[in-house]
Amino acid sequence: MATGKINVSVDNIFPLIKKFLYSDHEIFLRELISNATDATLKMKHLTTIGEAKVDYGNPLIEVKIDKEGKKLHIIDQGLGMTEEEVKKYINEVAFSGAEEFLNKYEDSAKDSGIIGHFGLGFYSAFMVANKVEIITKSYKDEPAVHWSCDGSPEFVMEEAQKDTRGTEIILHIADDSTEFLEDGKIKSLLSKYNKFMPIPIKFGMKTETLPKPEGAKKEDPAPTVEVDNIINNPNPAWTKQPADLKSEDYKSFYRELYPMQFEEPLFHIHLNVDYPFNLTGILYFPKLSNDLNQQKDRIQLYQNQVFVTDNVEGIVPEFLTMLRGVIDSPDIPLNVSRSYLQADGAVKKISSYITRKVADKLNSLFKNNREEFEAKWNDIKIVIEYGMLSEDKFFEKADKFALYPTVDDSYFTFEELQEKIKATQTDKDGKTVILYASDKEAQHSYIETAKAKGYEVLLLDSPIIGHLIQKLESSKENISFARVDADHIDKLIQKEETQISKLSDEEKETLKTELEKVIGEKSSYTVQLEAMDSDASPFTITEPEFMRRMKEMQQTGGG
Ligand code: ADP
Ligand code: MG
Repeated sequence: MATGKINVSVDNIFPLIKKFLYSDHEIFLRELISNATDATLKMKHLTTIGEAKVDYGNPLIEVKIDKEGKKLHIIDQGLGMTEEEVKKYINEVAFSGAEEFLNKYEDSAKDSGIIGHFGLGFYSAFMVANKVEIITKSYKDEPAVHWSCDGSPEFVMEEAQKDTRGTEIILHIADDSTEFLEDGKIKSLLSKYNKFMPIPIKFGMKTETLPKPEGAKKEDPAPTVEVDNIINNPNPAWTKQPADLKSEDYKSFYRELYPMQFEEPLFHIHLNVDYPFNLTGILYFPKLSNDLNQQKDRIQLYQNQVFVTDNVEGIVPEFLTMLRGVIDSPDIPLNVSRSYLQADGAVKKISSYITRKVADKLNSLFKNNREEFEAKWNDIKIVIEYGMLSEDKFFEKADKFALYPTVDDSYFTFEELQEKIKATQTDKDGKTVILYASDKEAQHSYIETAKAKGYEVLLLDSPIIGHLIQKLESSKENISFARVDADHIDKLIQKEETQISKLSDEEKETLKTELEKVIGEKSSYTVQLEAMDSDASPFTITEPEFMRRMKEMQQTGGG
């Protein structure tokens, strides 16, 4: 037996670990299962390259609760550790890793926090345990080792009885952490953090019903067997090659990710790049409502199949946080604060890669199946419009496929629209004026009037359209937008004079005076009779475009 003191350069990090972010104590399980996974994958590698002459078998990781003993066990069949390795990796490496993490963490704690609080490693066990034991046997032919530590920098190390290869970590759960002895709690943590980890994770047993044997009577119960309850899917869709997946596979993976979502995604984008950074993932366009706030935090970030966070702010551009799905990248630094992250070169590259892939996918949908793209437009436009507003690179690409629907359900790209209307809808300054309505019902009579004159009227009704219009006006030459009920419409040069008023001049004057009395002299509205030619509306009251916009800007909190 040997005792020793962990080399402590700060007085004692254990109290620090215990205090460390109370709400995030639960990450200890993710850290320990990550270590078990690493150890198993290392074993696999060593056997594959022939360095270890042992049978890799079908290893799994087991999580076991001993409620009476107040212990939690995490058992793996990985490469194990020799005595030397425990000294090195646990007493030195793990300790210094934890220390470094805590120092870093303290610096950035006041910032928006370290993503997923990654990096604390093995010693995170002390957030929930007052004593931790390791029983480990290396694949190398050496005696098993028993290491234990009660939360002070002192540890005890001795030879152990263990015949099978691998490592068992035993946590003596502290009195303030007994929730981690509850089945339900552990189950929910496993499904949050470990749902897609690459090694099967066993938690208890489950009963499986077998098919009835041939010739069994109707009333005979189906036979059952007890099998390992494996809580994860070690081969999630995003780790596979797109060529090996069918559209149904993507849909069923979506259901796996979001069991509570009953609506099918509109389409998916498979991300797969290994240079100059590593990134895999699948993004889904869900059906979106117009409620922007409701759509956040849906993309899950993983690192080597370990769940990190579902807040991808700073990693993908904001407009894409409305999508759902998974991104997995070992190249996103996690033990840094979010503000640091936004400045990180690798993260910037990742963010622009994702933006480009999304734009490319949309473009190919548009090109290959325009009809379907048009049918989906209403459900995806909010993301695209938001993206066009906020990311110039995306604007450039989306400008080719963004659609502008008319009140009669025709869809134009900007270029097509411009081509279609430039002859008829140009004002005296030579600007092509794009007319639009935001509400078909309320603006019905204006729409009819404009249509009667041969104008195209767009139906633009998303909540950010005012901002997008400004952006389009400032980035394109010689165009302007006018709402169909604005005064602008009368300044257009028409091909043919089609106005026929049924009123005499005298009648018109009287009507106009009467109407102006009603709306008030100082009002910015104007009454027009001459312009009307539709039977439905004998006159119109219009508001100058600039007035309307001013009001709109005030409502949406500025430009
Ligand atoms: P990290 O995983 O980032 O290296 P940890 O503190 O989690 O840091 O672990 C430190 C080291 O302890 C690991 O690198 C590994 O060598 C060793 N270790 C931890 N858990 C296991 C395990 N279950 N099996 C084998 N080695 C392990
Ligand atoms: Mg680790």
